[in-house]
Amino acid sequence: MGRPKKVLIVGGGFGGIAAAREFERHNNSNIEVTLVSNTSHFEYHAALYRVVTGRSPLEVCIPLSEIVNPSKTVVVKDTIEKIQLTKQIAIGSNGSEYPFDYLIFAVGCKTTYFSIPGLKEHSFTLRTIDDALRLKRHIHQLFSETAASKQKKPIDIVVAGGGATGVELSGELAVYTKKLARQHGVPPSLVTVTLFEASNRLLPTLHLSSSVIAEKRLRALGVNIFVNAPIQKKDIESVYLEQMKIRTKTVIWTAGTTSNELAEKSGFTLNHYGKIEVRQTLQSRDNDSVFVVGDAAATEYSGMAQTAIHDGEFAARQILNLIFNRELTTYRAKLPYYSIPVGPGWAILEAEDGTLTGKLGWIFRRFVDFKFFQSILPASIALRAFQEGRKIYETCPECSSIDAKEY
Ligand SMILES: Cc1cc2nc3c(=O)[nH]c(=O)nc-3n(C[C@H](O)[C@H](O)[C@H](O)COP(=O)(O)OP(=O)(O)OC[C@H]3O[C@@H](n4cnc5c(N)ncnc54)[C@H](O)[C@@H]3O)c2cc1C
Repeated sequence: MGRPKKVLIVGGGFGGIAAAREFERHNNSNIEVTLVSNTSHFEYHAALYRVVTGRSPLEVCIPLSEIVNPSKTVVVKDTIEKIQLTKQIAIGSNGSEYPFDYLIFAVGCKTTYFSIPGLKEHSFTLRTIDDALRLKRHIHQLFSETAASKQKKPIDIVVAGGGATGVELSGELAVYTKKLARQHGVPPSLVTVTLFEASNRLLPTLHLSSSVIAEKRLRALGVNIFVNAPIQKKDIESVYLEQMKIRTKTVIWTAGTTSNELAEKSGFTLNHYGKIEVRQTLQSRDNDSVFVVGDAAATEYSGMAQTAIHDGEFAARQILNLIFNRELTTYRAKLPYYSIPVGPGWAILEAEDGTLTGKLGWIFRRFVDFKFFQSILPASIALRAFQEGRKIYETCPECSSIDAKEY
């Protein structure tokens, strides 16, 4: 059989862990799988907005060591700085080298600010657990300062981007900030949550009917909504739109993504949106031994966790095909469904078979969360992670006095 084949997975997100687990299912002693990620935990992005509004971060962060089987997958915490595609070596942050026969590139994407002046410097975003906790601390600080000051100033929170993240975050914030206002003795009329979307409707990738339902629900929760309203500029005090200026220190940017810088540094061929071009087999155009998955790949439904999981499993099977001299198969994108919470206990589900809204949509959403945890974790740990999502973060004094049942 010769020496074992070295498979390197870069990125411990949805695509990376799906690939590692697929190799584990095939359990072949002639393959050495190493997963290198710049964090030692996996982040469940779909629940990040809930961390901002007081839920336990333990639902979002799951140690990689609990997800993969250490006897089958070697996990290394390191930041890959560059991949030498021709030499088939990945270079880590302190010069460590990871040679590979096959690579799965699963580093996701990063936020882009479309060169809007001041936005990067003066806004929050929601892509990682650190972002979520930073934003939560800031919101708590706003309420504490306002409560302590004699002259109560308004608390205006601006969410920029009416896609799924912006919609779920603004709905949740509308309810959470009312609770914080009551808790701090701040008049609720001083608090506003405003959502700006550059296109002509919320949730532009969903059916028009879902946009209308989401807008109605958000307005009922008290969110101000402006469409056709691209942000033009942000400075330390205010955010500027074409015909509007709002004094606020709290702009949460949820609107743009582009490729991870590692893609460019490594010399991958990128498309117009900064995603890596792939062949019909999911191999990169730049090296046949390299497969690109998830948000990094220019595939039809890139940008969804469901796609990244599908891709990761597919890429692992393709590598097994190459190792065992079998023919490669053609990649077929998996049609995703959209399940978007709009305020606590309420969600829109849009799938091939139809749309479900309200409490039933929410129950479906929680079912999906649980199924996901169950697919990556042993049953008892899956249940623990899922249940964490129902708890208020008791170590946070601001949140611990909020009644979890109200969510
Ligand atoms: C707030 C939010 C909510 C979302 N909600 C949903 C949802 O409800 N449903 C849905 O389908 N999708 C949702 N998504 C999208 C989904 O999270 C992404 O599509 C998915 O994470 C993509 O998976 P990935 O494996 O490509 O990348 P990621 O999951 O982002 O993983 C990338 C991994 O690579 C690591 N990494 C990055 N750079 C390096 C480096 N240089 N060296 C080593 N490691 C590196 C990162 O730490 C991370 O572990 C949401 C996204 C966000 C931000």
